[in-house]
Amino acid sequence: MHDAIIVGAGPAGGMAARPLAAAGYSTLVLEKKRIVGEPVQCAEGVSAFGLASNGLRPEDAWVAQRIDGARCVVPSGRSFFITRLPGYAIDRAAFDRWIVDGAVDDGADLRTSTRVTGVERRDGGWRVHAGEETFEGRILIAADGPTSFLAKALGLVRYQEQIRAYEYRFPRDAARVPDPDRFLLYVGERYDGGYAWIFPKGDSVNVGAGGHIDAHAAAVAFCREHGMDPDRREKVIAGTIPYRYDLAAYGIPGFAVAGDAAGVTNPMNGAGIHPGLFSGRIAGEFACAALEREDPGGMAGYDRVIRNSPFLDPILWWMIERVRRWPDRLMDDVGEELDGLDWRAVTLRFAASVVPRKPWLALHTREFLRMVRALELCEHFGW
Ligand SMILES: Cc1cc2nc3c(=O)[nH]c(=O)nc-3n(C[C@H](O)[C@H](O)[C@H](O)COP(=O)(O)OP(=O)(O)OC[C@H]3O[C@@H](n4cnc5c(N)ncnc54)[C@H](O)[C@@H]3O)c2cc1C
Repeated sequence: MHDAIIVGAGPAGGMAARPLAAAGYSTLVLEKKRIVGEPVQCAEGVSAFGLASNGLRPEDAWVAQRIDGARCVVPSGRSFFITRLPGYAIDRAAFDRWIVDGAVDDGADLRTSTRVTGVERRDGGWRVHAGEETFEGRILIAADGPTSFLAKALGLVRYQEQIRAYEYRFPRDAARVPDPDRFLLYVGERYDGGYAWIFPKGDSVNVGAGGHIDAHAAAVAFCREHGMDPDRREKVIAGTIPYRYDLAAYGIPGFAVAGDAAGVTNPMNGAGIHPGLFSGRIAGEFACAALEREDPGGMAGYDRVIRNSPFLDPILWWMIERVRRWPDRLMDDVGEELDGLDWRAVTLRFAASVVPRKPWLALHTREFLRMVRALELCEHFGW
Protein backbone atom coordinates (compact mmCIF):
# COMPACT_ATOMS: atom_id res chain seq x y z
CA MET A 1 0.00 0.00 0.00
CA HIS A 2 1.48 3.34 -1.13
CA ASP A 3 0.55 6.60 0.52
CA ALA A 4 -0.01 8.17 -2.89
CA ILE A 5 -0.27 6.99 -6.47
CA ILE A 6 0.12 9.54 -9.25
CA VAL A 7 -0.82 8.64 -12.79
CA GLY A 8 1.12 10.56 -15.44
CA ALA A 9 4.65 11.97 -15.34
CA GLY A 10 4.04 15.23 -17.21
CA PRO A 11 4.54 18.59 -15.46
CA ALA A 12 1.37 18.11 -13.38
CA GLY A 13 2.22 14.59 -12.21
CA GLY A 14 5.86 15.40 -11.51
CA MET A 15 4.91 18.43 -9.47
CA ALA A 16 2.30 16.46 -7.52
CA ALA A 17 4.91 13.86 -6.63
CA ARG A 18 7.50 16.33 -5.39
CA PRO A 19 5.91 17.54 -2.11
CA LEU A 20 4.72 14.02 -1.29
CA ALA A 21 8.15 12.47 -1.72
CA ALA A 22 9.86 15.38 0.04
CA ALA A 23 7.57 14.84 3.05
CA GLY A 24 8.60 11.19 3.16
CA TYR A 25 5.32 9.65 1.95
CA SER A 26 5.68 6.52 -0.14
CA THR A 27 4.86 7.84 -3.60
CA LEU A 28 4.39 5.86 -6.79
CA VAL A 29 4.31 7.54 -10.22
CA LEU A 30 2.88 5.46 -13.05
CA GLU A 31 3.69 6.58 -16.61
CA LYS A 32 2.68 4.81 -19.80
CA LYS A 33 5.57 6.18 -21.88
CA ARG A 34 8.83 4.30 -22.00
CA ILE A 35 10.80 7.52 -21.60
CA VAL A 36 9.25 10.38 -19.64
CA GLY A 37 8.48 13.36 -21.88
CA GLU A 38 8.91 11.58 -25.21
CA PRO A 39 7.51 12.10 -27.72
CA VAL A 40 7.16 15.82 -26.97
CA GLN A 41 3.70 17.31 -27.53
CA CYS A 42 4.40 20.98 -26.97
CA ALA A 43 5.65 24.24 -28.51
CA GLU A 44 7.81 24.46 -25.38
CA GLY A 45 7.08 27.99 -24.20
CA VAL A 46 6.65 28.88 -20.53
CA SER A 47 6.75 32.15 -18.62
CA ALA A 48 9.38 32.98 -16.02
CA PHE A 49 6.50 33.69 -13.64
CA GLY A 50 4.99 30.25 -14.25
CA LEU A 51 8.22 28.65 -13.10
CA ALA A 52 9.07 31.01 -10.24
CA SER A 53 5.55 31.02 -8.77
CA ASN A 54 5.84 27.24 -8.46
CA GLY A 55 9.25 27.35 -6.83
CA LEU A 56 11.24 26.32 -9.93
CA ARG A 57 14.45 27.94 -11.06
CA PRO A 58 15.49 27.81 -14.73
CA GLU A 59 18.20 25.20 -15.32
CA ASP A 60 20.68 24.92 -18.17
CA ALA A 61 19.63 21.29 -18.52
CA TRP A 62 16.28 22.31 -20.03
CA VAL A 63 16.36 26.01 -20.95
CA ALA A 64 17.01 26.37 -24.68
CA GLN A 65 16.56 30.10 -24.86
CA ARG A 66 15.34 33.07 -22.87
CA ILE A 67 12.39 34.92 -24.45
CA ASP A 68 11.47 38.60 -24.07
CA GLY A 69 7.70 38.24 -24.26
CA ALA A 70 5.25 37.54 -27.06
CA ARG A 71 3.67 39.44 -29.95
CA CYS A 72 0.33 38.95 -31.67
CA VAL A 73 0.49 39.30 -35.46
CA VAL A 74 -2.79 40.23 -37.22
CA PRO A 75 -3.57 39.15 -40.81
CA SER A 76 -2.17 42.39 -42.31
CA GLY A 77 1.23 41.57 -40.72
CA ARG A 78 1.13 44.32 -38.10
CA SER A 79 1.72 43.27 -34.53
CA PHE A 80 1.38 44.29 -30.91
CA PHE A 81 2.82 42.95 -27.68
CA ILE A 82 0.77 40.42 -25.73
CA THR A 83 3.39 40.57 -23.02
CA ARG A 84 6.83 41.96 -22.48
CA LEU A 85 7.41 39.71 -19.49
CA PRO A 86 10.20 37.16 -19.84
CA GLY A 87 9.85 33.48 -20.45
CA TYR A 88 11.73 30.51 -21.81
CA ALA A 89 11.79 28.18 -24.76
CA ILE A 90 12.50 24.89 -23.04
CA ASP A 91 13.43 21.35 -23.91
CA ARG A 92 10.11 19.87 -22.78
CA ALA A 93 11.27 16.26 -22.55
CA ALA A 94 14.26 17.23 -20.37
CA PHE A 95 12.01 19.53 -18.31
CA ASP A 96 9.45 16.79 -17.60
CA ARG A 97 12.23 14.39 -16.59
CA TRP A 98 13.87 16.99 -14.37
CA ILE A 99 10.61 17.62 -12.52
CA VAL A 100 9.82 13.99 -11.84
CA ASP A 101 13.47 13.21 -11.06
CA GLY A 102 13.20 15.76 -8.25
CA ALA A 103 10.59 13.49 -6.67
CA VAL A 104 12.58 10.32 -7.44
CA ASP A 105 15.63 11.85 -5.73
CA ASP A 106 13.45 12.22 -2.63
CA GLY A 107 12.39 8.58 -2.75
CA ALA A 108 9.41 8.43 -5.15
CA ASP A 109 9.12 5.28 -7.21
CA LEU A 110 8.72 5.97 -10.97
CA ARG A 111 7.35 3.14 -13.10
CA THR A 112 7.52 3.86 -16.85
CA SER A 113 5.92 1.71 -19.60
CA THR A 114 2.99 1.29 -17.20
CA ARG A 115 -0.41 2.22 -18.62
CA VAL A 116 -3.22 2.45 -16.09
CA THR A 117 -6.24 0.54 -17.36
CA GLY A 118 -8.55 0.28 -14.37
CA VAL A 119 -9.36 1.81 -11.00
CA GLU A 120 -11.59 0.95 -8.07
CA ARG A 121 -12.26 2.11 -4.53
CA ARG A 122 -10.91 -0.33 -1.95
CA ASP A 123 -10.96 -0.07 1.88
CA GLY A 124 -11.04 3.74 1.87
CA GLY A 125 -8.16 3.85 -0.64
CA TRP A 126 -7.65 2.98 -4.30
CA ARG A 127 -6.76 -0.08 -6.29
CA VAL A 128 -5.20 0.81 -9.63
CA HIS A 129 -4.75 -1.71 -12.44
CA ALA A 130 -2.11 -1.53 -15.15
CA GLY A 131 -2.57 -4.60 -17.34
CA GLU A 132 -1.76 -7.60 -15.13
CA GLU A 133 -0.36 -5.48 -12.32
CA THR A 134 -2.24 -3.98 -9.41
CA PHE A 135 -1.15 -1.14 -7.13
CA GLU A 136 -2.81 0.15 -3.98
CA GLY A 137 -2.70 3.66 -2.60
CA ARG A 138 -4.40 5.79 -0.01
CA ILE A 139 -4.48 8.89 -2.23
CA LEU A 140 -4.79 8.92 -6.03
CA ILE A 141 -3.85 11.85 -8.27
CA ALA A 142 -4.86 11.83 -11.94
CA ALA A 143 -2.34 13.76 -14.02
CA ASP A 144 -2.89 11.65 -17.10
CA GLY A 145 -3.23 14.36 -19.71
CA PRO A 146 -6.00 15.74 -21.92
CA THR A 147 -7.80 12.45 -22.57
CA SER A 148 -7.58 11.40 -18.90
CA PHE A 149 -8.64 7.80 -18.40
CA LEU A 150 -9.07 8.32 -14.66
CA ALA A 151 -11.33 11.39 -14.80
CA LYS A 152 -13.64 9.45 -17.10
CA ALA A 153 -13.42 6.19 -15.15
CA LEU A 154 -14.48 8.01 -11.97
CA GLY A 155 -17.41 9.62 -13.77
CA LEU A 156 -16.18 13.17 -13.23
CA VAL A 157 -16.28 14.39 -16.84
CA ARG A 158 -19.48 16.24 -17.71
CA TYR A 159 -18.21 17.91 -20.87
CA GLN A 160 -14.97 17.94 -22.86
CA GLU A 161 -14.15 20.12 -25.86
CA GLN A 162 -10.66 19.87 -27.29
CA ILE A 163 -8.62 21.47 -30.04
CA ARG A 164 -5.85 19.97 -32.12
CA ALA A 165 -2.38 21.38 -32.64
CA TYR A 166 0.22 20.41 -35.22
CA GLU A 167 3.77 21.63 -35.40
CA TYR A 168 7.13 21.24 -37.14
CA ARG A 169 10.44 21.64 -35.37
CA PHE A 170 12.91 23.15 -37.82
CA PRO A 171 16.64 23.54 -37.52
CA ARG A 172 17.31 27.26 -37.26
CA ASP A 173 18.75 27.54 -40.78
CA ALA A 174 15.59 26.05 -42.32
CA ALA A 175 13.23 28.52 -40.66
CA ARG A 176 12.38 32.16 -41.14
CA VAL A 177 12.33 33.84 -37.73
CA PRO A 178 11.02 37.42 -37.87
CA ASP A 179 11.73 38.03 -34.17
CA PRO A 180 14.49 35.86 -32.67
CA ASP A 181 13.77 36.97 -29.10
CA ARG A 182 9.99 36.62 -28.89
CA PHE A 183 7.18 34.17 -29.43
CA LEU A 184 4.99 35.23 -32.36
CA LEU A 185 1.29 34.28 -32.44
CA TYR A 186 -0.46 34.78 -35.80
CA VAL A 187 -4.21 35.24 -35.51
CA GLY A 188 -6.87 35.38 -38.21
CA GLU A 189 -10.37 34.18 -39.12
CA ARG A 190 -8.88 31.08 -40.66
CA TYR A 191 -7.67 29.86 -37.24
CA ASP A 192 -11.17 30.10 -35.73
CA GLY A 193 -10.01 31.38 -32.35
CA GLY A 194 -6.71 29.49 -32.56
CA TYR A 195 -3.48 30.72 -34.09
CA ALA A 196 -0.30 29.81 -35.89
CA TRP A 197 3.03 30.34 -34.20
CA ILE A 198 6.76 30.81 -34.63
CA PHE A 199 8.55 30.04 -31.37
CA PRO A 200 12.34 30.37 -31.54
CA LYS A 201 14.16 27.79 -29.43
CA GLY A 202 17.93 28.16 -29.49
CA ASP A 203 19.24 26.15 -32.42
CA SER A 204 15.75 25.23 -33.56
CA VAL A 205 12.34 26.78 -34.09
CA ASN A 206 8.84 25.44 -33.40
CA VAL A 207 6.33 26.43 -36.07
CA GLY A 208 2.74 25.24 -36.00
CA ALA A 209 -0.97 25.93 -35.85
CA GLY A 210 -3.83 24.95 -33.60
CA GLY A 211 -7.48 25.67 -32.94
CA HIS A 212 -10.92 24.44 -34.01
CA ILE A 213 -9.37 23.79 -37.40
CA ASP A 214 -7.55 21.20 -39.46
CA ALA A 215 -4.29 21.92 -37.64
CA HIS A 216 -2.12 19.89 -40.01
CA ALA A 217 -3.40 21.69 -43.11
CA ALA A 218 -3.11 25.06 -41.35
CA ALA A 219 0.48 24.36 -40.23
CA VAL A 220 1.54 23.31 -43.74
CA ALA A 221 -0.10 26.38 -45.31
CA PHE A 222 1.43 28.68 -42.70
CA CYS A 223 4.93 27.30 -43.24
CA ARG A 224 4.68 27.63 -47.01
CA GLU A 225 3.36 31.20 -46.78
CA HIS A 226 6.25 32.10 -44.49
CA GLY A 227 8.95 30.59 -46.66
CA MET A 228 9.51 27.40 -44.67
CA ASP A 229 9.56 23.99 -46.31
CA PRO A 230 7.91 21.31 -44.11
CA ASP A 231 10.22 18.74 -45.73
CA ARG A 232 13.17 20.40 -43.95
CA ARG A 233 11.69 19.74 -40.50
CA GLU A 234 13.62 17.77 -37.90
CA LYS A 235 10.48 16.69 -36.03
CA VAL A 236 6.71 16.55 -36.27
CA ILE A 237 4.80 17.31 -33.08
CA ALA A 238 1.05 16.94 -32.71
CA GLY A 239 -1.47 16.62 -29.94
CA THR A 240 -4.75 17.42 -28.32
CA ILE A 241 -5.29 20.43 -26.08
CA PRO A 242 -8.21 20.95 -23.69
CA TYR A 243 -10.41 23.87 -24.74
CA ARG A 244 -13.37 23.68 -22.41
CA TYR A 245 -13.85 20.97 -19.81
CA ASP A 246 -16.58 20.72 -17.23
CA LEU A 247 -15.74 18.34 -14.40
CA ALA A 248 -18.18 17.48 -11.64
CA ALA A 249 -15.28 17.85 -9.19
CA TYR A 250 -11.51 18.42 -9.26
CA GLY A 251 -11.08 16.86 -5.84
CA ILE A 252 -13.11 14.23 -4.01
CA PRO A 253 -12.11 12.31 -0.87
CA GLY A 254 -8.74 10.71 -1.52
CA PHE A 255 -8.54 11.90 -5.14
CA ALA A 256 -7.51 14.92 -7.22
CA VAL A 257 -7.29 15.59 -10.95
CA ALA A 258 -4.62 18.01 -12.21
CA GLY A 259 -3.21 19.60 -15.37
CA ASP A 260 -4.66 18.82 -18.79
CA ALA A 261 -6.65 15.99 -17.23
CA ALA A 262 -8.56 18.68 -15.35
CA GLY A 263 -8.75 20.94 -18.43
CA VAL A 264 -7.08 23.86 -16.64
CA THR A 265 -5.16 24.71 -19.83
CA ASN A 266 -5.59 28.29 -21.05
CA PRO A 267 -8.31 28.30 -23.75
CA MET A 268 -6.94 31.50 -25.28
CA ASN A 269 -3.58 30.06 -26.29
CA GLY A 270 -3.48 26.39 -25.30
CA ALA A 271 -0.74 26.98 -22.72
CA GLY A 272 -0.87 24.25 -20.12
CA ILE A 273 2.61 23.98 -18.60
CA HIS A 274 2.06 26.69 -15.98
CA PRO A 275 -1.48 25.51 -15.06
CA GLY A 276 -0.12 21.95 -14.93
CA LEU A 277 2.71 22.95 -12.59
CA PHE A 278 0.32 24.88 -10.37
CA SER A 279 -2.49 22.35 -10.15
CA GLY A 280 -0.06 19.45 -9.74
CA ARG A 281 1.80 21.17 -6.94
CA ILE A 282 -1.42 22.12 -5.13
CA ALA A 283 -2.78 18.58 -5.52
CA GLY A 284 0.44 17.22 -4.00
CA GLU A 285 0.25 19.67 -1.10
CA PHE A 286 -3.39 18.80 -0.35
CA ALA A 287 -2.46 15.13 -0.50
CA CYS A 288 0.30 15.69 2.09
CA ALA A 289 -2.15 17.45 4.40
CA ALA A 290 -4.77 14.71 3.94
CA LEU A 291 -2.20 12.01 4.75
CA GLU A 292 -0.87 13.86 7.75
CA ARG A 293 -4.37 14.30 9.23
CA GLU A 294 -5.42 10.85 8.06
CA ASP A 295 -8.39 12.57 6.48
CA PRO A 296 -8.81 11.79 2.75
CA GLY A 297 -11.85 14.11 2.80
CA GLY A 298 -9.37 17.00 3.00
CA MET A 299 -8.74 16.56 -0.75
CA ALA A 300 -12.07 18.26 -1.40
CA GLY A 301 -10.36 21.56 -0.48
CA TYR A 302 -8.29 21.19 -3.65
CA ASP A 303 -11.51 21.47 -5.63
CA ARG A 304 -12.16 24.94 -4.18
CA VAL A 305 -8.63 26.18 -4.90
CA ILE A 306 -8.70 25.04 -8.53
CA ARG A 307 -12.22 26.32 -9.19
CA ASN A 308 -11.26 29.76 -7.86
CA SER A 309 -7.87 29.87 -9.57
CA PRO A 310 -7.16 32.40 -12.35
CA PHE A 311 -6.71 29.47 -14.74
CA LEU A 312 -10.46 28.80 -14.76
CA ASP A 313 -11.61 32.43 -14.83
CA PRO A 314 -14.68 32.56 -17.13
CA ILE A 315 -13.34 35.74 -18.73
CA LEU A 316 -10.85 33.58 -20.68
CA TRP A 317 -13.63 31.69 -22.50
CA TRP A 318 -15.62 34.86 -22.92
CA MET A 319 -12.68 36.52 -24.66
CA ILE A 320 -11.70 33.69 -26.96
CA GLU A 321 -15.31 33.11 -28.02
CA ARG A 322 -15.52 36.84 -28.89
CA VAL A 323 -12.28 36.75 -30.86
CA ARG A 324 -13.53 33.68 -32.74
CA ARG A 325 -16.29 35.89 -34.15
CA TRP A 326 -13.98 38.70 -35.24
CA PRO A 327 -13.49 39.15 -39.00
CA ASP A 328 -9.95 39.73 -40.28
CA ARG A 329 -10.88 43.37 -40.97
CA LEU A 330 -11.49 44.00 -37.25
CA MET A 331 -8.24 42.25 -36.27
CA ASP A 332 -6.41 44.39 -38.81
CA ASP A 333 -7.98 47.56 -37.40
CA VAL A 334 -6.83 46.59 -33.92
CA GLY A 335 -3.36 45.72 -35.24
CA GLU A 336 -3.09 49.04 -37.05
CA GLU A 337 -3.96 51.03 -33.94
CA LEU A 338 -1.76 48.98 -31.61
CA ASP A 339 1.13 48.45 -34.04
CA GLY A 340 4.33 48.21 -31.96
CA LEU A 341 2.45 48.95 -28.71
CA ASP A 342 0.96 46.61 -26.17
CA TRP A 343 -2.61 46.12 -25.03
CA ARG A 344 -1.96 48.34 -22.01
CA ALA A 345 -2.33 51.24 -24.44
CA VAL A 346 -6.07 50.50 -24.61
CA THR A 347 -7.65 53.03 -22.27
CA LEU A 348 -10.80 55.12 -22.56
CA ARG A 349 -8.61 58.02 -23.67
CA PHE A 350 -6.96 55.90 -26.35
CA ALA A 351 -10.42 54.77 -27.54
CA ALA A 352 -11.53 58.41 -27.74
CA SER A 353 -8.57 59.20 -29.99
CA VAL A 354 -9.25 56.25 -32.31
CA VAL A 355 -13.02 56.58 -32.71
CA PRO A 356 -13.02 59.81 -34.81
CA ARG A 357 -10.85 58.01 -37.38
CA LYS A 358 -12.54 54.60 -37.12
CA PRO A 359 -16.06 55.25 -35.82
CA TRP A 360 -17.11 51.61 -36.33
CA LEU A 361 -14.71 50.60 -33.53
CA ALA A 362 -16.85 52.56 -31.04
CA LEU A 363 -19.25 49.61 -31.05
CA HIS A 364 -16.48 47.47 -29.57
CA THR A 365 -15.26 49.83 -26.83
CA ARG A 366 -16.75 47.87 -23.93
CA GLU A 367 -15.57 44.62 -25.45
CA PHE A 368 -12.02 45.98 -25.85
CA LEU A 369 -11.89 47.21 -22.27
CA ARG A 370 -13.07 43.84 -20.93
CA MET A 371 -10.48 42.10 -23.09
CA VAL A 372 -7.80 44.21 -21.46
CA ARG A 373 -8.77 42.54 -18.16
CA ALA A 374 -8.44 39.11 -19.75
CA LEU A 375 -5.04 39.98 -21.22
CA GLU A 376 -3.89 41.32 -17.88
CA LEU A 377 -4.77 38.00 -16.28
CA CYS A 378 -3.05 36.10 -19.07
CA GLU A 379 0.13 38.08 -18.77
CA HIS A 380 0.89 36.26 -15.52
CA PHE A 381 -1.35 33.21 -15.60
CA GLY A 382 -1.79 32.62 -19.33
CA TRP A 383 1.56 31.02 -20.14
C1 LIG B 1 1.34 20.90 -30.16
C2 LIG B 1 1.20 21.42 -28.77
C3 LIG B 1 1.86 22.58 -28.42
C4 LIG B 1 1.78 23.07 -27.10
N1 LIG B 1 2.51 24.16 -26.75
C5 LIG B 1 2.51 24.61 -25.47
C6 LIG B 1 3.36 25.68 -25.08
O1 LIG B 1 4.15 26.21 -25.84
N2 LIG B 1 3.29 26.10 -23.78
C7 LIG B 1 2.44 25.51 -22.87
O2 LIG B 1 2.41 25.97 -21.71
N3 LIG B 1 1.66 24.48 -23.22
C8 LIG B 1 1.68 24.00 -24.49
N4 LIG B 1 0.91 22.92 -24.85
C9 LIG B 1 0.09 22.28 -23.81
C10 LIG B 1 0.97 21.49 -22.86
O3 LIG B 1 1.81 20.62 -23.58
C11 LIG B 1 0.09 20.69 -21.89
O4 LIG B 1 -0.88 21.55 -21.35
C12 LIG B 1 0.92 20.05 -20.77
O5 LIG B 1 1.69 19.00 -21.26
C13 LIG B 1 0.02 19.54 -19.64
O6 LIG B 1 0.77 18.83 -18.70
P1 LIG B 1 0.13 17.57 -17.93
O7 LIG B 1 1.16 17.09 -17.00
O8 LIG B 1 -1.20 17.94 -17.41
O9 LIG B 1 -0.18 16.52 -19.07
P2 LIG B 1 0.83 15.73 -20.02
O10 LIG B 1 2.05 16.52 -20.25
O11 LIG B 1 0.00 15.31 -21.19
O12 LIG B 1 1.25 14.46 -19.17
C14 LIG B 1 0.35 13.40 -18.95
C15 LIG B 1 1.16 12.14 -18.83
O13 LIG B 1 0.29 11.08 -18.47
C16 LIG B 1 0.67 9.92 -19.20
N5 LIG B 1 -0.53 9.07 -19.27
C17 LIG B 1 -1.66 9.28 -19.94
N6 LIG B 1 -2.55 8.27 -19.74
C18 LIG B 1 -1.92 7.39 -18.94
C19 LIG B 1 -2.30 6.14 -18.39
N7 LIG B 1 -3.51 5.60 -18.63
N8 LIG B 1 -1.42 5.48 -17.60
C20 LIG B 1 -0.20 6.01 -17.34
N9 LIG B 1 0.23 7.19 -17.85
C21 LIG B 1 -0.63 7.88 -18.63
C22 LIG B 1 1.11 10.47 -20.54
O14 LIG B 1 1.96 9.56 -21.22
C23 LIG B 1 1.82 11.74 -20.15
O15 LIG B 1 3.20 11.54 -19.94
C24 LIG B 1 0.96 22.42 -26.15
C25 LIG B 1 0.26 21.25 -26.51
C26 LIG B 1 0.38 20.76 -27.80
C27 LIG B 1 -0.35 19.50 -28.17
